[in-house]
Amino acid sequence: MFDIESIRRDFPILDQKIYGKTLIYLDNAASTQKPKQVLEALNYFYEAQNSNIHRGVHYLSQKATIAYEEVRETIHKFLNTRYSHEVIFTRGTTESINLVASSFGKRYVNRGDEIVVSAMEHHSNIVPWQMMCEERGATLRVIPMNEQGELILESLDSILTEKTRIVSIAHVSNALGTVNPIKTIIEKAHQKNIPVLIDGAQSVAHYKIDVQELDCDFYVFSGHKLYAPMGIGVLYGKEEFLNEMPPYHGGGEMIKEVTFAKTTYNDLPFKFEAGTPNVGGTLALQSAINYVENIGIEVIDSWENELLNYATQKLSVIEGIRFIGTAPKKAAVLSFLIGNIHPFDMGTLLDRMGIAVRTGHHCAQPVMDFFGIPGTVRASFAFYNTKEEIDNLLSSILKAKSMLE
Ligand code: PMP
Repeated sequence: MFDIESIRRDFPILDQKIYGKTLIYLDNAASTQKPKQVLEALNYFYEAQNSNIHRGVHYLSQKATIAYEEVRETIHKFLNTRYSHEVIFTRGTTESINLVASSFGKRYVNRGDEIVVSAMEHHSNIVPWQMMCEERGATLRVIPMNEQGELILESLDSILTEKTRIVSIAHVSNALGTVNPIKTIIEKAHQKNIPVLIDGAQSVAHYKIDVQELDCDFYVFSGHKLYAPMGIGVLYGKEEFLNEMPPYHGGGEMIKEVTFAKTTYNDLPFKFEAGTPNVGGTLALQSAINYVENIGIEVIDSWENELLNYATQKLSVIEGIRFIGTAPKKAAVLSFLIGNIHPFDMGTLLDRMGIAVRTGHHCAQPVMDFFGIPGTVRASFAFYNTKEEIDNLLSSILKAKSMLE
């Protein structure tokens, strides 16, 4: 399908030994590795363009400003937003959700109102809403899920009411891999005039996102899960909401005029971008998007899906394995437990064999509570992973299992 060996050569970090073993990196849902094109873009900014943006008449500042604003255009096309000023740069998914919860909350949420999330959310899509609910006197309501880790959509009819102000939901669960039917959820919410935020942290690197086609009101993601550096992310919001919402942070760049008596705020998108942004990270994000688009997002999805099916089938032979998250539509995330082995012990032994998996509650404690488990071992795949790595994962799990039992 594509030349995986040549792709792997773009990722210098993959070509190293951990405890004398070749690294097998299966923690992509937590953070992906960066191709050298992205690292070069970051380096190039600091070598050739570094300057503060939007405020300088000098050459470098203008060059950096133009480059930064070009990335906004790239994201505008990448997500197919209606306007480029609907693209706000943030530090990542967490900051984007906090921004919306705080700012949307101040403008639209009052005592007695309700906010709806789902039973499989990452803490980043629970806690900011709880904080806002506490402040505004609102209540958090939760769309339940079943034992496969699928949302029970029938419950929406009773959960979405005239009190609901917003629905905030993950496109893909980081703990279970479930791909949620967000289009249906958005349609159902919109029938009752309720806006919807989509947490795209786990979907942006795997599926083509068209925010106009989805008709979501907000979509957020982190660059570092899309082969870009940490500390850069995006908030897309419909102009009609962003224009109404008050600024989140105050400071430079987000103002029109400041006096000690009164400050007037800048227009979109600058109203939400106070202070010096992560310009280098933004430029590197553009490079990451180019990289992914060069391979083709459908090609990536298809290869990752093949890896997921291969791994699910291979690991199924392990005696006592229990997969957590068995929805029919899943992204390349495999969460599991083996017998009574604690996930932490399994993860530690796998690490010694050169395999990076994640263990624990994956910042989704309510999901672990639902399944009555302390956590899982999670292997998550990216396009640079191979079937040989999965074979190695299987034999290493079997080795660790025999040591631990
Ligand atoms: N939501 C989901 C579904 C996630 O997987 C993550 C990261 N694990 C986040 C939110 C938070 O992302 P970040 O830490 O990059 O802000």
